[in-house]
Amino acid sequence: MYAKRLDNLPPYLFAQIDALKAQKRAEGVDVIDFGVGDPDLPTPKHIVDSLCDAARDPSTHHYPDYTGMIEYREAVSEWYKKRFNVDLNPKTEVLALIGSKEGIAHVPEAFVNPGDYVLATDPGYPVYKTSTLFSEGKLHQLPLTEDNDFLPALDEIPADVLKKAKLMFFGYPNNPTAAVAPLSFFEEVVEFAKENEIVVVHDNAYSEITYDGYKAPSFLEADGAKEVGMEMHSLSKTYNMTGWRLGMAVGGEKFIAGLGRVKTNVDSGAFDAIQRAGITALTSSQECVSDACRVYQERRDVLVAGLRDLGFEVNSPKATFYVWMKVDDCMSFAQKMLNEAGIVVTPGVGFGSNGEGYVRFAITRSVERIEEALERMRGLEY
Ligand SMILES: *Cc1c(COP(=O)(O)O)cnc(C)c1O
Repeated sequence: MYAKRLDNLPPYLFAQIDALKAQKRAEGVDVIDFGVGDPDLPTPKHIVDSLCDAARDPSTHHYPDYTGMIEYREAVSEWYKKRFNVDLNPKTEVLALIGSKEGIAHVPEAFVNPGDYVLATDPGYPVYKTSTLFSEGKLHQLPLTEDNDFLPALDEIPADVLKKAKLMFFGYPNNPTAAVAPLSFFEEVVEFAKENEIVVVHDNAYSEITYDGYKAPSFLEADGAKEVGMEMHSLSKTYNMTGWRLGMAVGGEKFIAGLGRVKTNVDSGAFDAIQRAGITALTSSQECVSDACRVYQERRDVLVAGLRDLGFEVNSPKATFYVWMKVDDCMSFAQKMLNEAGIVVTPGVGFGSNGEGYVRFAITRSVERIEEALERMRGLEY
C-alpha cells in the first residue's frame, strides 16, 4: 500500500528505546529521560503574552503571507545584524519557516535532482538524510570523528561524488556531538562550495545556547556565504519555543527564492500571531536567553563532573544542551542504562553509523534529576 519512499526510510532506531521506556514507566519505574532534545524550561512570559494579544486580534486569523510577515522578516534581519553583524534584505534574503525542520525537509526539493549527491554530516540531524531520500538524491556521509574535532574533512570526499554533489547539510554548534566550528571552517566551506558548485545549507539552531563566554558564529559571517547558500535558524532552542513552530531561512536571494517556491506549493506559512510573538522574542531584551544558558551551564557542569568521576571520557561542551559521551557499544549501553537504572540516553548510532561508540545526554532535566541519575549510575557495572 505505501509508496517505496517510505520503505526506503532508515529504521527508526529510537523506536526500540521508546518502547522500552514506555514499558519501564508502565512497570512503575521513575524514568529519568535525557533522550529528548526539547527544553524543559517554559517559553518566557513576555513572548507568551505577546501571542495571547496577537491571537485576540482578528487580523491574524487569516492565511499568512507565504514568505512571512514583512515585520517578522525585518525583525529577523535586525536580529542578524545585531547578533552577527550580517546584513540581510528582509524582502529577498529572509523566509519564515514553520520551524527549521520544515526548511531542512523541503530544501532538497528545490535543488536536488534524482541521482544528485547530497553531502551530510554523520552523525547528524536525521532530517538531512530523510529529506535527501524523499527528493531521490543520494546521500554521501561526511564522518564526524573525534580525530577531526567533529568537523567534516572536505578534502576526503571522492572526486566522483563531488562531480555530482549538489547540496551540503551541516550545522555548528552541532547536534548531536556538541562540537563547535570556528569561522575559518565556514570560510573553508564557502571556498569548497564555490569550487564545486554546491548549495550549502548551514543549520544553526544552537547558536545562542553557549557557555563560558563562547559566542557561536553564523555561516553568513563567512565572506561570500550568501553566494553559495543559506542558513536555517529557529526560535525553538533559543527561546524554548519548540512547540510553536517558528524559524527562518536566511541567505542568498536565489536560494531563498528556490525554497520559497517549494513552500508556496506545500504550506501556507506560519500563523501570524506566532510570528508576532516571534517579533517580540527577537526584538525585546535577550536576558531570558542568557538566563537559560546559565541553567544549562550548571547542569552541564554537574553532569560532566559526575560522569568523569564515574570514569567516563567526556568533553565539556561549549554549546548546545547535549553531552556526547564515549561508550563501547551504544545500543547495549543505552539498554543497560534504561533496564538497570531507569535512565534514558540516546544511542549515537541513531544519528548515523559514525555515531556508534557514543551516547547523547540532553541536559533538559534539573540538577536534582541529574544528581539522582549519577547516583543510580554509581551502582552499575559497565
Ligand atoms: C532542534 C533542531 C532543529 C529543528 O528545530 P525546529 O524546532 O524545527 O526549528 C534543526 N536542527 C537541529 C540540529 C536541531 O537540533
